[in-house]
Amino acid sequence: MSKSIIILGAGESGVGAAKLALSRGYVPFVSDAGNGKESFLGELRESGIKFEVGGHVTENWPSTSTAIKSPGIPDNAPVLEYFRERQIEIISEIEFASRYASGRVVAITGANGKTTTTALIYRLLTDAGINAACVGNIGTSWARDIAERTTPAEVTVVEASSFQLDGTTSFRPDIAVLLNITPDHLDRYDYKLSNYAASKWRITEYQTTEDYLVYNSDDEEIKTLINNPGTNAQLVSVSNTYRFDSEQNSAENFCAEMKNKNEFIINTPHKKPFSMTIQELAIQGKHNLFNSMAAGVTGRILELRNETIRESLTHFEGIEHRLEYVATVNDIRFINDSKATNVNSVWYALECMSSPVIWIAGGIDKGNDYRDLLPLVENKVKHLICLGKDNSKLIATFSEKVETIHVVETAAEAVQVAYDLGIPNDTVLLSPACASFDLFGSYEERGNAFKTAVKGL
Ligand code: ADP
Repeated sequence: MSKSIIILGAGESGVGAAKLALSRGYVPFVSDAGNGKESFLGELRESGIKFEVGGHVTENWPSTSTAIKSPGIPDNAPVLEYFRERQIEIISEIEFASRYASGRVVAITGANGKTTTTALIYRLLTDAGINAACVGNIGTSWARDIAERTTPAEVTVVEASSFQLDGTTSFRPDIAVLLNITPDHLDRYDYKLSNYAASKWRITEYQTTEDYLVYNSDDEEIKTLINNPGTNAQLVSVSNTYRFDSEQNSAENFCAEMKNKNEFIINTPHKKPFSMTIQELAIQGKHNLFNSMAAGVTGRILELRNETIRESLTHFEGIEHRLEYVATVNDIRFINDSKATNVNSVWYALECMSSPVIWIAGGIDKGNDYRDLLPLVENKVKHLICLGKDNSKLIATFSEKVETIHVVETAAEAVQVAYDLGIPNDTVLLSPACASFDLFGSYEERGNAFKTAVKGL
């Protein structure tokens, strides 16, 4: 008799997991407390997969030994008690997918830069002619990719969120990339950075001495975790901070570091280091320098040629909603950084602004501490436009630091107010530090509304 498997959540990862389960001989059952999206439900119907929406009716559930939980469902959701009481394992979709994966696996996590670095590594691989897959948080679920792909990928690049990592029990990437650990999603981690950090560290939990951990050696949280609990993986350090008195890493290890203020090197054991200037990189900003270095050293571990890496890093166009240049209207530049949904990503956005800023921020605050932004806001921001339902914290923090504060309710209004305030050489930056769900369906919707309004000026 076929084994049943229960999947909670009928979104991209739930439907992907159901399809993979079906293709591997399970009888999947999908349950979603919400109404579900018609496109996903249609797919389930077409594949003959049973599902329920609008609530969990556990009496109707088949008996199972495994439950797959979608990342949107928090660990304390009452429905999970059903499984805990019966000692049924609860895993995430990436854990399930990893059990059926072939080829090498690169997994990327961090508070910020996951999508950018995932896309960069994927670009490196495809430019080198490798049959690669790009999955996870970035778009297609890994499970769906395995279920639907005709030729298995030689290398799979997985963007792994902390919610996906929380549900792993054996997931072991050949190369794990840990970009940074700064506060985000603390509402799901009892407001403790250490809980969130522990979740990110799970990316290396099951790695062995054959595997690699590419990590940010400038990040204090990560440095602490390297000492305790530690990892079995081979350490590959990446640092985008130039220290003129630092010793260069020995040629025995893979690593990426600054040669001088303007140039970085990627070291491969027993080979000549490869170097590139910051100006050669297609995507600019200190954070993107880091992302490019992490991608480059990962490429070297995967034995890509130096010159292929250089070519790809020089031509990568960046991705929508991440410091995306929109237009210049009457000498006022408009930049869409709608994906900046936490304080740290806004820090990097402001850090790389070289002209006076009219800053559009606000939305759902996930436990933000804005104090880190105070010096940058004081130096660079002239006006703050609040685009959220509850703007009290932003107003309280920045009222003394900017010339004026304005409260608006739509992206169109925000753009109009910014444009009216702007003078030539100003930059209007949408970089909200908050999630979008109070006024928009998603960060993409927010970014698109901003871009449409700019184009209509
Ligand atoms: P994620 O997938 O982790 O959310 P993205 O690549 O989508 O990361 O970028 C999200 C936001 O963070 C954008 O505003 C981007 O400019 C910024 N960002 C990208 N890389 C980094 C980094 N290494 N450190 C800090 N911020 C970054």
